[in-house]
Amino acid sequence: MSWVKPSCWNTSLLMVVLPLFLLSPLFSFRLVRCDADHFGSAFKIMEEFSGYPVGEPDALLSLSVGTDDLLKQIDELAAFSDTPAPSVTRVIYTDKDVAARRYVKNLMKGAGLSVREDAVGNIFGRWVGSEPDLPAVATGSHMDAIPYSGKYDGVVGVLGAIEAINVLRRYGFKPKRSLEIVLFTSEEPTRFGISCLGSRLLAGSEELLKSLKSTVDAQNISFLDAARYAGYAQDQDDISSVVLKKGTYASFVELHIEQGPILEEEGTSIGIVTAIAAPASIKVDFEGGGGHAGAVLMPNRNDAGLAAAELALAVEKHVLESGSIDTVGTVGILDLHPGAINSIPSKAHLEIDTRDIDEGRRNEVIKKIHQSAFRIANNRGVKLSEFKIVNQDPPALSDESIIRAMEIASTELNLSRKLMISRAYHDSLFMARISPMGMIFIPCYKGYSHKPEEYSSMEDIANGVKVLALTLVKLSLT
Ligand SMILES: [Zn+2]
Repeated sequence: MSWVKPSCWNTSLLMVVLPLFLLSPLFSFRLVRCDADHFGSAFKIMEEFSGYPVGEPDALLSLSVGTDDLLKQIDELAAFSDTPAPSVTRVIYTDKDVAARRYVKNLMKGAGLSVREDAVGNIFGRWVGSEPDLPAVATGSHMDAIPYSGKYDGVVGVLGAIEAINVLRRYGFKPKRSLEIVLFTSEEPTRFGISCLGSRLLAGSEELLKSLKSTVDAQNISFLDAARYAGYAQDQDDISSVVLKKGTYASFVELHIEQGPILEEEGTSIGIVTAIAAPASIKVDFEGGGGHAGAVLMPNRNDAGLAAAELALAVEKHVLESGSIDTVGTVGILDLHPGAINSIPSKAHLEIDTRDIDEGRRNEVIKKIHQSAFRIANNRGVKLSEFKIVNQDPPALSDESIIRAMEIASTELNLSRKLMISRAYHDSLFMARISPMGMIFIPCYKGYSHKPEEYSSMEDIANGVKVLALTLVKLSLT
């Protein structure tokens, strides 16, 4: 057996083995002996040091990410789009979505995973471990894409997870806990106005289970009809069968592009997420008297549009009053009716998004926004016809042991890392309700996301895949 051939060692292999090599004189001694028994001992030492099996020597030689294949897969998946490249538009249960699902299921099968789907189209690919009765370790993300967005959001965490499994297979790794990849249905709210639909259901959202029966899209197609069109939610299916019991997974880890500029600006390879900010969204309607823009004099107006404008500024004020950089608020939608230049707005509709890593502080902002809406309506003589908190989700904290596993994996791979907060939310926010959770971020160009310019380099993606692979190894063996 002549596996000590420096020319065969690729960079990624060296990154993993070198620290072990340098720190273990016994190991370096045994390398030069080159006989089977000594390999056994050396690998045992490596295992003890690293905390996970290092595989057989031949398999160890092939520890590397198949970047060419991964790049090709990202491009091929991006082609399942309703808008031309470089943009990607992939909305759930459309023909393109169904074709993309078929593509991903084939990749999962190609990686030797057993594939199942639930009643709403969450897709699971399982690598059965040596102790299949233990709760599995899960990873995954989404692949739906809002109109005219990019090809990396979510996709890196799905195709990257499949590649992480391939890496581990080439590596000769044998999981103890089963490893499972989850492709979540509809993380984006594009079609039915519900974000993280698949993971919310997996986490057992009763509210969503109830509301899905009457949920329709903009074309008045019901959620259930759309799901049936895509081959899910058949008559015999009970949507509540989607819900996973707490404890189904021992841990859940999601690989994702940062969608912000910090890692790229700092030249840091890996972001380790410690918390996901708590999102909330609110819908507000004001109704006033309307009237002719020339004929109704200023003292006689009840302008719903000005009430909305005043509330938008109040949102900013209340957010800033929190005194924390982590509190944010946005009025992303402000519609005026009838929307004519010579007509005083008789109706105004606002949609407000506010987030914080501190749930109490975020709730305080919501309370103040509510009080301001009442006060403004009163002062301006308009009616506050709706103030609806659409969702008010708690934040999620990453699990300490998963953070530690990700840190160790980064160190072993000699990659710089940063502990950070995810201000965007992800399927992980909901998976955290039923499983210890962690997230790995990789840099993306200028922090761009949700637009065609979204980009992550293959080097950064490969780094993320390696950290994910080693993290899964650790979690599978605990
Ligand atoms: Zn995403």
